[in-house]
This record gives sequence, C-alpha cells and structure tokens, in this order.
Amino acid sequence: MASAPSLDWEQCTVEGCEGSRSHENGKCLAHLGPAELGTTLERIAREDHLDARGVEISSELLGQILAALPRAPEGSPRFGKAEFRAATFTGDAVFDGSVFAGDASFLRATFQGKAGGRNDGCAAGPRCSPRGLRPQSRP
Ligand SMILES: [Zn+2]
Repeated sequence: MASAPSLDWEQCTVEGCEGSRSHENGKCLAHLGPAELGTTLERIAREDHLDARGVEISSELLGQILAALPRAPEGSPRFGKAEFRAATFTGDAVFDGSVFAGDASFLRATFQGKAGGRNDGCAAGPRCSPRGLRPQSRP
C-alpha cells in the first residue's frame, strides 16, 4: 500500500483513512463503534493523552471527546497532551472553553466549519483583554 511518507504514525486500517490508530482493532477514533469509542475515550481521559493525528473529526465526535474528558476546576473540559496534527474538523470545531494543560498540536489541521473556542462574551474581538489587565497602549 502506498502511503504518504509524511505520516509518521500507524494509520487506521480503514481504506483511505489517515487517522492514527487508537484501538487494538487498528481503527482511528472516527471509525470505532460506539462501545469501542467509549472504552477508548475512557482510556484517553485516564492517560491524559489524546492522539487524533490525521483523524476526521465531526462535531459529534468532538462533542463526545469533550464529554469524556476530565474537568478543569472551572468545569471546562480539560485536555492533557492533545495531538490534532493533520486532523480534519469536518464540522464546527468548538472547544467550549477547553483547557489545554499539556502540549497541544494543531499543525496542518484543517477546519472545514467554524473554528475556535468560545470567546467568553467579549464582543470587542481582538481588543478584548482579560479582566484586570489594562488594554495595551498604542504608540
Ligand atoms: Zn479511520
């Protein structure tokens, strides 16, 4: 099987899928059945390490991942190490205020829907600053 040399992970056994294997059956997160996905997400939460390299992530799958993660003290989903390298987000990639406690890589990830976390209610866009900090003064 000819595979792209740039992929340095073991790929999903489903034809044409470049997702990283996350289960002993050789399938990526996107191709696991509900029960397999459930046990895999439990393991991810326990090990604090999500490997979704090259995986096609629908908004439904992302929601399942977020729901399975441990919570940060403020109640947001909490990622440990998170590898989304070359992943494709096929729906809206809404991380719902997620906290990334470890290394997170989105290198070469593709966002086909809306991307980003929640912008916690600030309507001023890039000029928002965290509460208690003064806005940067302009030269
Ligand atoms: Zn797959």
